[in-house]
Amino acid sequence: MRIAMIGTGYVGLVSGVCFSDFGHDVVCVDKDAAKIARLQAGEVPIYEPGLEDLMARNVAAGRLSFTDDLAAAVAEAEAVFIAVGTPTRRGDGHADLTYVMAASEEIAAALQGYTVVVTKSTVPLGTNRQVKQVIAKSNPAADFDVASNPEFLREGAAIDDFMRPDRVVVGVQNDRAAEVMAEIYRPLYLRDFPILTTDLESAEMIKYAANAFLATKITFMNEIAGLCERVGSDVKEVARGIGLDGRIGNKFLHAGPGYGGSCFPKDTAALARIGQDHAYPMQITETVMRVNQEVKARMLEKLRDACDGSFNGKTIAVLGVTFKPNTDDMREAPSLTIVPALIGGGARVRVVDPQGEAEGRDLLPGVRWEEDPYKAARNADLVVLLTEWNEFRALDLKALARKMAQPRMVDLRNIYTAKAAKRAGFETYVGVGR
Ligand code: NAD
Repeated sequence: MRIAMIGTGYVGLVSGVCFSDFGHDVVCVDKDAAKIARLQAGEVPIYEPGLEDLMARNVAAGRLSFTDDLAAAVAEAEAVFIAVGTPTRRGDGHADLTYVMAASEEIAAALQGYTVVVTKSTVPLGTNRQVKQVIAKSNPAADFDVASNPEFLREGAAIDDFMRPDRVVVGVQNDRAAEVMAEIYRPLYLRDFPILTTDLESAEMIKYAANAFLATKITFMNEIAGLCERVGSDVKEVARGIGLDGRIGNKFLHAGPGYGGSCFPKDTAALARIGQDHAYPMQITETVMRVNQEVKARMLEKLRDACDGSFNGKTIAVLGVTFKPNTDDMREAPSLTIVPALIGGGARVRVVDPQGEAEGRDLLPGVRWEEDPYKAARNADLVVLLTEWNEFRALDLKALARKMAQPRMVDLRNIYTAKAAKRAGFETYVGVGR
């Protein structure tokens, strides 16, 4: 199968590389010529574990290439995937479809022979029909179908998620398109991963419903954590206790500083907006969005309390700035609200992150980047554990405490325990929900 992948971001690049590993011929396209030049030179522009090797292997096998010539890639392809960004539109919370529609116009002009145009980007209800109209209008002679194939991979574990998915969702309007999609995913089908074939609108809704549900699960736990702090329960024990119930499940129950990242904030906002447009307010989703903001604000209060009520003149070491471990993605990361608030309050902030510096340099002006946690903690008044990278999971707490002017820690990921921190010499240890 010959595939063109439009957009080489976190989703497009991983999908393109993995499809080529399935044995398909894949051309990855991006309008960002600098990105394409790096990819052609064998460089991976994002940090995603395992991606560089898998990409090199498939390029060497002649199944994977990169270009900024969309027309040439599309003309050759039997399936064209749209994997461009759908960020929140300024002002109203809607998903911004500018990139999807621009790509659709470009694809329309280049189609040759029967082609399935597949939307992998997360898009609101009705978008696939809109893509179909745009293509049919700008190229009435085109022989094509559209398909919706939302992506569920998680950054940081993207290759494994793509190769061993919980499920693949495919929305189509007819058997012809369904057969092309089945051929593309045949390697997974042979290994018994569930492939759900449905209509376009259900596929579009599945993606939003899944992300809103996960955001709700996290936020519910964060709310329980706030109450745990007031009544003396330990949210980690509570999470274990409820997670053993198969109806609840033990995943996604970690209390923390509120959800962020490239998907949950924008997808909950878009779902809420879709509800409003249909005079059907999504009350739970809207509440989740509001509570998540409150959770973030509560984290700042924790930090302020640990600094005796004021950040002014304090030196604070922040461990981890990416929105989660194993990615360099900073979109909607908690660090983007917490760090500026610390600096705004008069603190000197030092940060450490195994992969975040390239992205974070411009996003976090005024911080000092350090190579390791111990250097960052030198003469500091507070250490804040913000992203649970493996590098921060087994710190020598004694050595860390010894470096500090005031050995205090706020652990927003509940990696350590008050007991261990006190034993190591920390005078203050604050977690979440404990
Ligand atoms: P991204 O911003 O990392 O990448 C988008 C890429 O598309 C950019 O490189 C951009 O230059 C390129 N692009 C835009 N318009 C183009 C055009 N007309 N022609 C060629 N290239 C073009 O985005 P992402 O994080 O990969 O997300 C893509 C989509 O996948 C979004 O809808 C997102 O919601 C969805 N999604 C993301 C994740 C995730 O974890 N990042 C997971 C599941 C779904």
